[in-house]
Amino acid sequence: MAFELPPLPYPNNALEPYVSAKTLDFHHGKHHKAYVDALNKLIEGKPEEKQSLEEIIVATHHDDAKATLFNNAAQVWNHTFFWHCMTKGGGGDPQGEVKRAIDHDFGGYEKFAKEFKDAATTQFGSGWAWLVFDAGKLKVIKTANAVNPVAGGETALVTCDVWEHAYYLDYQNRRPDFVQAFLDHLINWEFVARNLEKARERHG
Ligand code: FE
Repeated sequence: MAFELPPLPYPNNALEPYVSAKTLDFHHGKHHKAYVDALNKLIEGKPEEKQSLEEIIVATHHDDAKATLFNNAAQVWNHTFFWHCMTKGGGGDPQGEVKRAIDHDFGGYEKFAKEFKDAATTQFGSGWAWLVFDAGKLKVIKTANAVNPVAGGETALVTCDVWEHAYYLDYQNRRPDFVQAFLDHLINWEFVARNLEKARERHG
């Protein structure tokens, strides 16, 4: 079955002024859609048509002959996940379980924020910064291009897209300003909390 472009979970102007409606229109309507369309073309009539997105990602990671399929499948997954990582009035310090986990594993929100910003700004070229749950702990990682925690075996809790298309219309070359706005005003901590709860249930 063909994959579909999921709608944004909010109106295209919901994240202004930190992410403009114009950026969301291009990023979701052009970039994300292009990955969905390319993925559907690649799997048409193939066994992958019957697989989930996660199954395709795991099976094609490290397979050079299927790099294009991996890249498009992973980018569909990454963007679908990324939209939920942001919300109007988000960002700043988390509360509850997420706060406790961040305090325990990073030594406080400020240390987490610095590590996340460092990862996001030092990722050379295109990629993603992630907060993941791995072996019972929260960790910050960065990945290149389309690579994601689904491929790496960690559980994604939150991500920031640091491809230029994510911020160039609003911030031009100022990636650190976009990442700071993501941390201060956009992170959807309720989504992070739900992901952490599911990750802990799965890994006991
Ligand atoms: Fe993107």
